[in-house]
Amino acid sequence: MTRIALYPGSFDPVTNGHMDILRQSLALADKVVVAIGIHPGKAPLFSFEERVELIHASARAEFSQDEASRIDVISFSDLVINTARNQRAAYLVRGLRDGTDLDYEMQMAGMNGTLEPDIRTVFLPASPNVRHITATLVRQIAKMGGEISAFVPDPVAEPLRRRASSGE
Ligand code: ADP
Repeated sequence: MTRIALYPGSFDPVTNGHMDILRQSLALADKVVVAIGIHPGKAPLFSFEERVELIHASARAEFSQDEASRIDVISFSDLVINTARNQRAAYLVRGLRDGTDLDYEMQMAGMNGTLEPDIRTVFLPASPNVRHITATLVRQIAKMGGEISAFVPDPVAEPLRRRASSGE
């Protein structure tokens, strides 16, 4: 039986924090579906297609060939739990950075567990070296010309510098 995990988020762009959770998820599940949330009216820094490519390029750079081949990337715009059901996921993966994440995530896990008891939310703790990273701050630092290479995988650094400095 193929155990599928759904890992939802914005991934705008994928950071070392996301990669840490993705690596941990690949150890738990046979296949990890990274689900990029699309919010109409909210302009992302990178398009959906660009975010997909940055995730695959980062996985190829940092993971084994086997691990990278077990990652799918999709978009979603409806409820996360419906997307998880449609993907036949057994797990819904969420990364935990701190107590603030936990309070919110416990509510989400409770609601999602009521909506779909067969899909289990799995909380994975951020590794100490990446727990401070948020994509929002990384984008802000890049837009102000700061050095972002400590926060994102190598394939993301240059596209992020270019995109942030062009003010697109
Ligand atoms: P962000 O909050 O960085 O904008 P997302 O909304 O894309 O990122 O988050 C998607 C998932 O990744 C969430 O479960 C979030 O907790 C997790 N995540 C994001 N950054 C980290 C990190 N530095 N360490 C662990 N998990 C993280």
